[in-house]
Parts: sequence; C-alpha cells; structure tokens
Amino acid sequence: PKMSSSNDVILVTGGTGLVGQAIQHVIETEPAGSRFGKRPGETWIFASSKDADLRDPEQTKKLFAKYKPTHVIHLGALVGGLFKNMKYKLTFLRENTLINDNVLHTSYETKVAKVISCLSTCVFPDKVTYPLDETKIHLGLPHESNFGYAHAKRMVDVANHAYKEEFGCNFTSAIPTNVFGPHDNFDLEDSHVIPGLIHKCYLAKKNGTPFVVSGTGKPLRQFIYSQDLAKLFIWQLREYDDVEPVILSVGENEEVSIQAVADAIVKAVGFEGQYSFDTTRADGQFRKPASNAKLLSLIGDFQFTPFETALHDTVQWFVANYENART
Ligand code: NDP
Repeated sequence: PKMSSSNDVILVTGGTGLVGQAIQHVIETEPAGSRFGKRPGETWIFASSKDADLRDPEQTKKLFAKYKPTHVIHLGALVGGLFKNMKYKLTFLRENTLINDNVLHTSYETKVAKVISCLSTCVFPDKVTYPLDETKIHLGLPHESNFGYAHAKRMVDVANHAYKEEFGCNFTSAIPTNVFGPHDNFDLEDSHVIPGLIHKCYLAKKNGTPFVVSGTGKPLRQFIYSQDLAKLFIWQLREYDDVEPVILSVGENEEVSIQAVADAIVKAVGFEGQYSFDTTRADGQFRKPASNAKLLSLIGDFQFTPFETALHDTVQWFVANYENART
C-alpha cells in the first residue's frame, strides 16, 4: 500500500547506525511534506539495540507493541569488516538470522503494512558475471570470507517471497553498495575502507607520522553517501511496492579507485606529511560493479551528492565528533 497521510508510524531498526542516523537527518532536515521530508501525521522511531535486542523474540515483540509501527525500515544487523566476518562466521549467520526472523515475523503478526529490509552487494555470488543486478543474488555461493553474513542476508529475500506467497505480506529489500558518512564505525581495525582511512589519516596528521594505505590503491568501488542512501530508502518506502529488491547505488560509471579515495581524504583532512601505499598488503577484488539501472528507471530524477563533497562532509563530521565517534 502507498503511504497514507495520517497516523503512519515508521520504525527504523538499527536507527542509531550509519544508515539509520542518515535517515533521521534527512527526515528532519528536508522540507516537511517534500519527497524526502517528513509528511503530516507521520511518526518516525529510530530504535537501537538498547530499545530492543532484536535477537530476542520477546524484546522484539515488546518493541512492536510499544510503537505499533505501520511501516518498518529494517537496518538492524550484526555488521563488520572483513576481519570480523572471517573470524565470527557462525555468529554472523546466527545473530542475523535471528534478528531478521524476529523482525519479519513480528511484522507479519502485527500486520505491518510494509517492511524494507537491507541486504548488501557483498552477499552476491563470488563467481558471477558483472555488473551485479537484482536477479543474481542466488546464482552461486558467496565469497567464503563472509559466507555467514551473506547467507543470513540472502535468506531475507527468500523470506520476503515466502511471506508474500503464503500470507500476502508487502515485504521487500534494498541492496546498497559501500556506504559512508557521519556516524560510521571509524575503528582502525574493523571498519570499512573509507572510515578506516579517514581515522588513519587523521592520526597521521595529529602525530606527524606517515599515512600508509594498505594495497596498491588500484581497486575500484562504488560508494554511496549515507544521506543519498537515506533518500533512496524513503523513496522505496513511499513509492516502490514490489517484493523484488532494488540496488541502491551510484552508477557503474561512478566507480572510484582506492587511491582516489585516499587522495580525497588527504585533501579533506589537510594532511601534508608522507603518504604511500603498502603494496605488500592484499587488494581484494579489483572491481565488482553493480548496476543501478533498475533504480534509475523507477525513481526518475535523483541527484547524487558529488563524492568529494560527501567525503569532505564526512571528514568534517569525524573531526568535530572525534571524542564521541565509534572508533
Ligand atoms: P551500523 O553498524 O552503523 O549500525 C548497526 C545498527 O544495528 C545499530 O543501530 C545497532 O544498534 C543495530 N543493532 C545491531 N545489533 C542489534 C541487535 N542485536 N538488536 C537491535 N539492534 C541491533 O550499520 P550500518 O548503518 O552501516 O548498516 C545498516 C544496514 O545496512 C545493515 O543491515 C547492513 O547490513 C547494511 N549495509 C551496510 C553497508 C555499509 O557499507 N555500511 C553496505 C551494505 C549494507 P546499537 O547502536 O544499539 O548498537
């Protein structure tokens, strides 16, 4: 169902994370009543694990009973970088399976009108023809480094289809590429590439030490600014009604090399010291482009924030919030 204008309660699980905080920012700062702004009668709830541990069915049910959501954007997940994914495969499989089952089944039981869950392009098959698109999620085994996380996430798409076929539920999913922005996890050991490099470069500047980037800098990736992604989630909530997922990403022609990322970070941080690439470190896959053709065909006009602007804003946020950021 399309969103009506009154009494909609939108529950965002994982509402305190990178993506959840961006949705809150967009909802609060876009003009009220606009395409991405808050609409009359809407109540938005941004839940953290302190409001309910979604691994637990009882806590999940209590959260839904408290807020009575009519719509759910389900972002809550155990997430982590490569190292953590490799080390805790069963934990990633099991906790995400529990979280997703609790959220979807409670949504079904409480007659939530629509749920959008969040997949990731890193759950796609390891051996696949590029570019990735929405039809290829299940066409082969995921990369062995994150198979626990990947299988748990893929099952959300399976569940969405089964809930629709057995019970007529309006459940769907979004598939973002690499996200970055304020409120990210900037941990040096266990973060994604952009927040990790921002933190590293910040410390290099502060301590007068060299800024060393792991790998050759040559791999290419698609990065989406969390605030752009937030708008796409809001669009999907209001204007997209189909079980099949949508890849939420910049275009294949917008790939950025890790070197270009590092260059932009050096500039945004204002780092003037020694800067090099440690080519003895592993690069990962050279590129794994994903197509945003489906998104563009549906959304019409959408302006993505230029990469350098978004990166600059993220660095500014990190510097201003260093004491409280997740590091
Ligand atoms: P974050 O790590 O920034 O945030 C995770 C959120 O999930 C937090 O709000 C956290 O709550 C919540 N959470 C974690 N465990 C539980 C739990 N047991 N019960 C309830 N809530 C829980 O993640 P992102 O914002 O980066 O990711 C959001 C979604 O996007 C995830 O589903 C992720 O898989 C997906 N995604 C992310 C990408 C990225 O590049 N970051 C790329 C593609 C997909 P608390 O604050 O209390 O810990």
